[in-house]
Amino acid sequence: MKKFLFLSSLFVPFLLPAQDKQQFLIRAGKLFDSESGQFKKGVSILVKYNIIQEVREDREPSVEEKKNYTLIDLRAYTVLPGLIDAHTHLLYREEIHPGNNLPGLDLDKVLTMDGDAYRAIYGAARAKAYLEAGITAVQDLGNSGQFADVALRRAINEGLVPGPRMRCAGPGLSTEGGQVPGLIFKHREIVNDEYRIVKGPEDAVQAVRENINQGADVIKIYSNNTPNNTRLSTEEIRAIVKEAHLYGLRVTAHATDNKAVYNAVISGVDGIEHGYQVDDSTLELMAKKGVILVPTDGDSISLRQYLKLSSMSEKEIADQLAWDRKFLGDRLQRAVKKGVMIAAGSDDYVDFKLPFAEPSIRTLIGYVESGIPIPRVLQFATLNGSSQLNWSNKIGKIKRGYLADIIAVDDDLEKNIQSILSVRFVMKDGKIFLNKL
Ligand SMILES: [Zn+2]
Repeated sequence: MKKFLFLSSLFVPFLLPAQDKQQFLIRAGKLFDSESGQFKKGVSILVKYNIIQEVREDREPSVEEKKNYTLIDLRAYTVLPGLIDAHTHLLYREEIHPGNNLPGLDLDKVLTMDGDAYRAIYGAARAKAYLEAGITAVQDLGNSGQFADVALRRAINEGLVPGPRMRCAGPGLSTEGGQVPGLIFKHREIVNDEYRIVKGPEDAVQAVRENINQGADVIKIYSNNTPNNTRLSTEEIRAIVKEAHLYGLRVTAHATDNKAVYNAVISGVDGIEHGYQVDDSTLELMAKKGVILVPTDGDSISLRQYLKLSSMSEKEIADQLAWDRKFLGDRLQRAVKKGVMIAAGSDDYVDFKLPFAEPSIRTLIGYVESGIPIPRVLQFATLNGSSQLNWSNKIGKIKRGYLADIIAVDDDLEKNIQSILSVRFVMKDGKIFLNKL
């Protein structure tokens, strides 16, 4: 019962009897079926403990059902599987400093002045916000100090703090310098607090074992380490992939330019993060090999905030926004046309001065702004996300036998992607964490 202390007192009267009963009958107005990409009408969902027991045609509940199940009436809403963000940094915040041309400056500050303990608490606050925004699972890809992400995952799983299911990478595997450019030589060791710097294929294998031993669920690598300037070799990436796959872990690569994407793909990685400058021929290779792309593209509101906080003029902001959308949209459209599977991922770490988790949700709006139809975008954030998290048999679908991660938003989601910002109900693992019906 301790868990309820973390929930707003506003919701407690509803929650207590419901959570004790542990069986729910959810009547959905519209249900987004992530497998078919269709919105279905008149569906109800039966949940027992943390598992979806049945998805059936809606009908008036029987007397027996009324006795055994807690009824949740979502007929005025659109119901969908809990959202999945495949690229988060819950324990990392970078502020925008106008005029600063030292890109590693904030990471230096985080490493020397914040520390892992503060970062874990900060991460816990954001984890709660993510869950209440409808994100029931994340893949947290590094920038969490020395396995502080694993500690947060444990606290969430133990019910100490509310948050999404977490897949954790631990420190990302990078070459010299990590993503902290500009460290003078005698201080360069500080990067080891944030990244696992690998020195050759043999050391790369050891790095994978260290991360697995500390509880990593996924191996994050930096094929190139922008904004820094070194790259993993294909021999090192191959060694990493071979070792990770022995343990059933997927490998996903930060890769911003075509060479970084290509090197990672031919070396056997399972996912590509960012992939900003990527050629059509590399996209074709990704489609052929089943490599998932996580396009960490913002929407116009978060990009605008970024540019505004960078002290740009309105004219400069308008020009930059138009350029960004065209560039990101073109890349995303090309990837979709080539048949690359896309998973939604925000890379939400910049402090846009927006509420926690909002930049993550806005990533989905950004995909729609890039010309992707709403049902397809919702598949990126459910069905495809579950594949990227290596949990496709557990989450991402509202289907018999799947974990009960179910959310509800305003009814017009099918036509209006902005409704994804109006989350009314969140259930994770068969427990209700938000109820604003
Ligand atoms: Zn990232």
